[in-house]
Amino acid sequence: MSVWRNRFLADAAGWQSAGLRRQRRIVRPVSSTEVEIGGKLVTAFASNDYLGLSRDPRLIEAIGEGARRFGAGAGASHLVSGHHAVHEALEHELARFAGKPAALACMNGYVANLALLTTLAGEGDAIYSDQLNHASIVDGARLSRASVSIYPHADVGALDALLASSAARHKLVVTDAVFSMDGDIAPLEALLALCERHDALLVVDDAHGIGVWGPEGRGSVQALGLQSERIVYMGTLGKAAGLSGAFIAADQLIVDRLIQRARPLVFSTAGSPALAHATLTALELIRSADAARERLVRHRERLHDFASGWQPYRLLASATPIQPLIIGDNAGVVRLAEALLQEGLWVPAIRPPTVPAGSARLRIALSAAHTDEDIGRLGAALSRIVSTAGTIPA
Ligand SMILES: *Cc1c(COP(=O)(O)O)cnc(C)c1O
Repeated sequence: MSVWRNRFLADAAGWQSAGLRRQRRIVRPVSSTEVEIGGKLVTAFASNDYLGLSRDPRLIEAIGEGARRFGAGAGASHLVSGHHAVHEALEHELARFAGKPAALACMNGYVANLALLTTLAGEGDAIYSDQLNHASIVDGARLSRASVSIYPHADVGALDALLASSAARHKLVVTDAVFSMDGDIAPLEALLALCERHDALLVVDDAHGIGVWGPEGRGSVQALGLQSERIVYMGTLGKAAGLSGAFIAADQLIVDRLIQRARPLVFSTAGSPALAHATLTALELIRSADAARERLVRHRERLHDFASGWQPYRLLASATPIQPLIIGDNAGVVRLAEALLQEGLWVPAIRPPTVPAGSARLRIALSAAHTDEDIGRLGAALSRIVSTAGTIPA
């Protein structure tokens, strides 16, 4: 055991001294936006619960009702005996929601990306992946054994050149729709046009777009009215939908292939029937959440009104609820986050390697559950702390 112990201890010491040791704060949610941490009540700008659904009484009730009517666990994988009527009904609704012929429920977005990339592409194929794509896409692409080309962030011209020079017969482009650390939106229309020209599949990970964008919150692809059998859509249900889980919506042929061959789905127990039932409720709540989506837009505009007072720090021009304030310096961002916490405001400090070196940032995540007053408090506190930067506790 000693060689292992020595390695683990040395690695842990290295993370500690590089300021990269992470810790899980224990949170006790009091509402969608207020949490108790370390005995202190704070307003959090730290969650992906964009519509405030995670604590919606209708959703909580639906989990209980689902468990009573359909059971707590599925008992087996979908292909063995775990595909219950409620899963089938959910997949039908997910397909309708996504405007696709078919859909497949998955345990979460990480697994969905592994499942779809390893099943759609393989040895001899070529995957093209945006430089800022989520880690689950990076891992799924590696696991697929296809050749992987990383293209510069949202650079359609560079991707075009890569596709044009490819010798692979089967090409697949994969992108986050909304990038999780910058909050910017992928050029989906141009990407689809490229994929048509080069006969490639387009996989769109809409983890941060579903519920927030598009008519009835149906996501980024429908926000642009894009319809194509070559689009494979992945939506997650742990963010705006307030639960956990994910789904892949696509052409029937693609969904059938996933049912046959996607190892992360074939060799894994089906999700809880109670959760499947609650997800049906979540889809209804998302559809009818126009007022919440308008509130998100207002919160974002209000936040940007404050941004001039935060110079020299720069608020990125994100149109989404993800609002990154670029600080640059790793220690500086931590001090700023600590100073906000002193004022009862929790905004996570994001450092490398999650973001490129020199671009450490506060990642302000807005929710429709925030009040106008919450936004005002954050805006004013940041202005005050930044203007008296010399007093940030070192
Ligand atoms: C959160 C996230 C995932 C993973 O989804 P989970 O359901 O949390 O596993 C995948 N892709 C992106 C872009 C994400 O932000």
